[in-house]
Amino acid sequence: MKALQLTAWQQGPELVDVPEPEPGPGEVVIKVGGAGACHSDLHVMEWPPGLLDWKLPFTLGHETAGWVHAIGSGVDGLREGDAVLVYGPWGDGRCRTCRLGSENYCEHASELGAAGGGLGRDGGMAEYMLVPRARWLVPIGDLDPVEAAPLADAGLTPYHAIKRSLHLLGPGSTVVVIGVGGLGHAAIQLVKALSPARVVAVDLAEAKLDLARRLGADLALPSDDEAVGTIRGYTGGRGAEVVLDLVGSDPTLALGAKVASVNGHLTVVGLGGGRLEFSFFALPYECSVATTYWGSVTELMEVVELARLGKLVIQTHRFPLSEATAAYQRMREGSLEGRAVIVP
Ligand code: NAD
Ligand code: ZN
Repeated sequence: MKALQLTAWQQGPELVDVPEPEPGPGEVVIKVGGAGACHSDLHVMEWPPGLLDWKLPFTLGHETAGWVHAIGSGVDGLREGDAVLVYGPWGDGRCRTCRLGSENYCEHASELGAAGGGLGRDGGMAEYMLVPRARWLVPIGDLDPVEAAPLADAGLTPYHAIKRSLHLLGPGSTVVVIGVGGLGHAAIQLVKALSPARVVAVDLAEAKLDLARRLGADLALPSDDEAVGTIRGYTGGRGAEVVLDLVGSDPTLALGAKVASVNGHLTVVGLGGGRLEFSFFALPYECSVATTYWGSVTELMEVVELARLGKLVIQTHRFPLSEATAAYQRMREGSLEGRAVIVP
């Protein structure tokens, strides 16, 4: 079968022929419906050798949905043809954090040699994907796997980031979403589905700001020097209770620090490599800064429920496997609205 693999560090992926996987005990093979292309894949392709202790090659695609195709011995509760979404961060399943469902924060993550399928182990940008543990499959019912695939990361990651701050999001509160890409366009909808907070969206591209307005953002602003003053004015000088930085570059971190409120949360999700200088006066009093990484499997189930209710609709653009490189190029240029999904 064809698979889009990362074969060397700091290079684009290659479409190669690999054997079709067969499930061993406890494993499941799914027929891939779609695999989302995430900006993290671009970072992984760009980072130097040695930064990640993953072995090459592996198949890309860590947002994958499809249908159960073959079931290994000892797996129960699944039937051939079931539509499923693959939970992405693969922990050891044994530590306390994993048992609470948060395999994204597995206590033994550094010993596993990979972060999950598509991130060190074979992912979904192929005709079939081997899922080594049945617990990583979440049923999606009647959702279309192509539309559902990005829920695994573009949906789950902002969902987790918003949920941890939900106690701050009462009436009259504000969330600033920096970066209206795959994650950001989901974040806007998720804030609206979960809270009465107002949403201010910030991006460089006018088309993304239009998308943000269509998805319910109360205000959409270019990412420039005027954004700080506008957001401070919009919030009556108070600032935003929650800032979700889905870019993580020097300018977006600086913007986030200037628009967050006293007692606020500045949550950094983007891996843009920026730095935030810290001193007593760097942030409003009692404003916390945190990074978040992905989310728990039970949160993924909740994200699926929101999608089934129509409260989270991922804007998808389909690309065949042979054009995956073009999808990544469009993402690099910032000319994709929503999420590219590779459909083998
Ligand atoms: P994307 O390419 O779909 O979207 C990025 C958006 O940011 C684009 O709309 C772009 O125009 C905008 N942008 C770029 N520079 C900007 C700036 N200075 N100000 C405002 N907007 C700006 O990317 P994505 O797939 O949504 O991923 C976003 C980031 O989140 C990436 O760095 C990715 O690696 C990271 N990520 C982190 C996690 C995690 O668990 N922490 C999970 C998934 C993705
Ligand atoms: Zn664990």
